[in-house]
Amino acid sequence: MEEFVNVSVRIRPPSKEEILNSSLKVINKQPAILLLVDKSQSYHFDNVFTYETTQKEIYNDTVKRLVQKVKAGYNCTVFAYGQTGTGKTYTIGTNPDIKNESEAGLISRALEDFFNCADEDNEVEITISFIEIYNEKVFDLLESNKPKHPLPIKGFTVQGFTKVMVHNMNEALRYLQGGSRQRHIGGTKQNTNSSRSHAIFSIHCCIRNSEFETVAKLNLVDLAGSESVRKTGNQGSSFYEGVNINKGLLSLGQVMTALSSNSGHVPYRQSVITTILQDSLNKRNFISLIACVSSNSDDLGETLQTLEFSNRVK
Ligand code: ADP
Ligand code: MG
Repeated sequence: MEEFVNVSVRIRPPSKEEILNSSLKVINKQPAILLLVDKSQSYHFDNVFTYETTQKEIYNDTVKRLVQKVKAGYNCTVFAYGQTGTGKTYTIGTNPDIKNESEAGLISRALEDFFNCADEDNEVEITISFIEIYNEKVFDLLESNKPKHPLPIKGFTVQGFTKVMVHNMNEALRYLQGGSRQRHIGGTKQNTNSSRSHAIFSIHCCIRNSEFETVAKLNLVDLAGSESVRKTGNQGSSFYEGVNINKGLLSLGQVMTALSSNSGHVPYRQSVITTILQDSLNKRNFISLIACVSSNSDDLGETLQTLEFSNRVK
């Protein structure tokens, strides 16, 4: 049987110094084995992507399969997990200003594949939504009216967020860029542009032909930085933001572990992110986790945490 969860690791391009002093070594590509040099510990994943792997290759090895599943009626989700600065936003593609096509992230590549599946027999309707979870509150990134108010959640669903039908790539990319610019940005010691929110871009796809109609969605999730609160030196209100975000990541780990280990109770209610993704996070659907890491030996503690998290969700 096909596994419901697929876990990959992506190593961010290193600086010259990091190449000489790397804490990570890919010792086998297929099946993928990553060695943590200092702890001489090895981890097995579905894929290990190095700095030589292109955005297109990552798409082909992770999300392309999910797009096919969405067309067949499954709700699918891809998560980018990891420490701030390791390439989560770059990978998912919620960075508004990329310079060239080859850098396009997973969102735009998925949109392109969905638009391309329309033909003589199949009518395709694409609707998108883009929300952010900040401090355990949900905000609509496609709603341009300010000031922003958090959206209520009823049962397992967010109420009243914008869903727009898009007809071509240009239109879809305009919403992606506009929404990305509206994200909460908070500076921490570690990275002045670090984002402490989870962003969820969902592509709802409806395919109609003479025989049937399928409706399903693909969620592309740029998770908040997984670094520990202490390391980023957060204080005051920022400190509590960190606590809540870690709560989201912690409970995502618990939900995934409960699913993988077939434990009866899945604790969806422990955080907002697992509550609102409940309709996608289960074993009938398909999930891809991309763990983003740095090979810098200074980041070893965070890298180890990311590898342990990723190892547990399988
Ligand atoms: P995060 O979202 O995890 O904090 P970012 O996606 O913002 O990290 O990446 C940090 C910086 O590194 C950005 O300037 C980004 O463009 C760059 N970057 C990350 N991964 C890659 C990559 N694989 N190739 C080229 N540049 C990258
Ligand atoms: Mg980011």
